[in-house]
Amino acid sequence: MRRLRNVKIVATLGPASSDKETIRALFEAGADVFRLNMSHGSHDEIRERHAIIREIERETGRPIGILADLQGPKLRCGTFARGEEELEEGQGFRLDLDPAEGDATRVCLPHEEIFAALEPGANLLVNDGKIRLKVERCGKDFADCTVIAGGTISNRKGVNVPDVVLPLAALSDKDRKDLDFVCALGVDWLALSFVQRVEDVEEARALAAGRAAILSKIEKPAAVKAYDAILAASDGIMVARGDLGVELPVQNVPPIQKRLVRGARMAAKPVIVATQMLESMIESPMPTRAEVSDVATAIYEGADAVMLSAESAAGDYPVEAVQTMNNVAIEVESDTTYREVIEASRSVARESVADAIVSAAREIAETTDIKAICCFTHSGTTATLVARERPRVPIIALTPLTGAARRLCLTWGTFCELTGEVERFKMAVVSAVRATRDRGFADETDMIVVTAGIPFNVPGSTNILRVAPCDERLIFKGEPE
Ligand code: ATP
Ligand code: MG
Ligand code: MG
Repeated sequence: MRRLRNVKIVATLGPASSDKETIRALFEAGADVFRLNMSHGSHDEIRERHAIIREIERETGRPIGILADLQGPKLRCGTFARGEEELEEGQGFRLDLDPAEGDATRVCLPHEEIFAALEPGANLLVNDGKIRLKVERCGKDFADCTVIAGGTISNRKGVNVPDVVLPLAALSDKDRKDLDFVCALGVDWLALSFVQRVEDVEEARALAAGRAAILSKIEKPAAVKAYDAILAASDGIMVARGDLGVELPVQNVPPIQKRLVRGARMAAKPVIVATQMLESMIESPMPTRAEVSDVATAIYEGADAVMLSAESAAGDYPVEAVQTMNNVAIEVESDTTYREVIEASRSVARESVADAIVSAAREIAETTDIKAICCFTHSGTTATLVARERPRVPIIALTPLTGAARRLCLTWGTFCELTGEVERFKMAVVSAVRATRDRGFADETDMIVVTAGIPFNVPGSTNILRVAPCDERLIFKGEPE
């Protein structure tokens, strides 16, 4: 199951992709990481999808990343008797605290604190800003609005109130329960929604207690401002453009995306570009040209991963959406402009021995006919440093830790392979050579670069680099035992 591209694909699971057949088809089409959105679906549904992913992992022998996305302090409307309603421009629409199912005239907005903070004239944006409501009259348990921009409103759609500062904690009670639930289940990444401050990340990290890596979703103006500190405190980043484009003017999103992607790459932390990438594929087997161009742009920018939301979770063409991303990625990455752009943006501070080793590995791979860079890694950090170099040859990360292998599914260009614990460098070279050949990255006549840290099993100790022939008989030829 070797991918022919470097950028990774994250696919959100939902009602359109909850049976094993579909999830397996998504994986085979190219999904490297599955996202379980805690905003939708019960714990039972999440548990089932999680079990299916792990089953597919066992059957295919390939590590698969699972990212659990915590809802965070996101405001959402309740459900509708008919599942959805059409709101027409100019009509009235009421939001209230009545938990009864909604209709074309009203729906529940189960957040008291919003009603307390709302004032006439405030704008409410529903479903990533597609529907706009203006508050006419409001009280402590209702708001009567006029529909300024209409559209379909459906169950549990997100609601933003950009004009009003809401006093919301980073992690709700639901988030805490969800966090414990998914950590006990065993997920590789925890995505935090609506991070505003570095303390939000630290709080989640303390609760996760090492059970999952922490990925901060950047979707608030405050998070954009505090990006450097949030990036330093996080293991990965998501450019969550849905809410970002509601909280800020839409035209601000592309430059922010560029800045966030570049920052994360410099920090050697995976960055996902997310939301509406192939939005029209929710209903159509063909994307728009603009969407294809958007996916391509994220890849040219050097993102580690591109993501599907409703396209794979609730759309009519989930597998086709993954295939589309896969095809776009293959095409972009074979373009010479892509290489030029990626290499021109390589600005890396050489601060440690590990930095120097991975950069040397990349240069050696460029000057000679090397087929892969194999790196032994415990936490996965060395592999992310190699990935930051964006080498031209595949990166094979060898780790004894399943968790590290799964987390690295999000990292650009990295193919993970589980190995036994390695104690001596000779053993390491032999297993690297075997893994490279077994997986079809090289044959006996080829050479690879191997990096590792001695002593083994000490994180952050990468200090050795070897160019090795893939013919085992030649590896140690002439060396004293
Ligand atoms: P977020 O802000 O976390 O991205 P979202 O509501 O935008 O939340 P996405 O996961 O981006 O959710 O998916 C987009 C849409 O797809 C949702 O609004 C919902 O209509 C549908 N969807 C996604 N996952 C599910 C699910 N598990 N169950 C039901 N509907 C889902
Ligand atoms: Mg969001
Ligand atoms: Mg979304």
